[in-house]
Amino acid sequence: MRLRKVKGAAETIAAHPNIVVQNEKELKGNWQSVFEKEQPLYIEVGMGKGQFVIGMAQKNPHLNFIGIEKFDSVMVRALEKVIEAGELPNLKLLKIDADELTEIFEENEVAGVYLNFSDPWPKPRHAKRRLTHENFLKLYQTIMKEDGAIRFKTDNRLLFEYSLASLSQYGMILQDVALDLHKREDLEWNVMTEYEQKFSAKGQPIYRLEAVFAQ
Ligand code: SAM
Repeated sequence: MRLRKVKGAAETIAAHPNIVVQNEKELKGNWQSVFEKEQPLYIEVGMGKGQFVIGMAQKNPHLNFIGIEKFDSVMVRALEKVIEAGELPNLKLLKIDADELTEIFEENEVAGVYLNFSDPWPKPRHAKRRLTHENFLKLYQTIMKEDGAIRFKTDNRLLFEYSLASLSQYGMILQDVALDLHKREDLEWNVMTEYEQKFSAKGQPIYRLEAVFAQ
């Protein structure tokens, strides 16, 4: 994602602790307390400007969601969207890097992880930064319940192929793989991300997988 620095982003974020959680380290093991209702908690790692996680929270009031993003300049755009949508009781935003996940969430605290159009990091020497690298899979496995699933969408074929191999080699079970998601007929459950909208409008196929850790 091309990043343009947004003036005053950090201040705007700090002014909305009701939406962008600020005391995340104190909440480890107690995330349900930030929501109106105790219900399964799903996270999107690398949410960008938030369209997906907002859409999911609106569509699924029986689930809780946290949108995670590491950059202020992107987070502030997501924050603006949440304010515009009307603050949702089942959605919070969190500004952390994915490599901190196990410092923030307790074991088994999360019901599922969404990864959408994650940065591809095409150079082999940057492979460890890909959010489907085994180092990140370990983190997701730690914080997720045993039956929790990773759901991943991308337009990037090389990242998708890498991810299929990475998850399989880690011992994950692929439950669903789509090589052209939008050709499916049963798509009423699908919430589009900003990137998904952009790439599918250009006619590019969207790849998707769903996988669980072997028990
Ligand atoms: N998910 C959105 C979508 O599909 O429209 C945004 C996709 S954008 C290509 C990837 C986003 O992930 C960027 O906003 C980036 O800052 C964020 N990101 C990348 N690595 C991250 C990390 N390690 N922790 C948190 N966010 C990350």
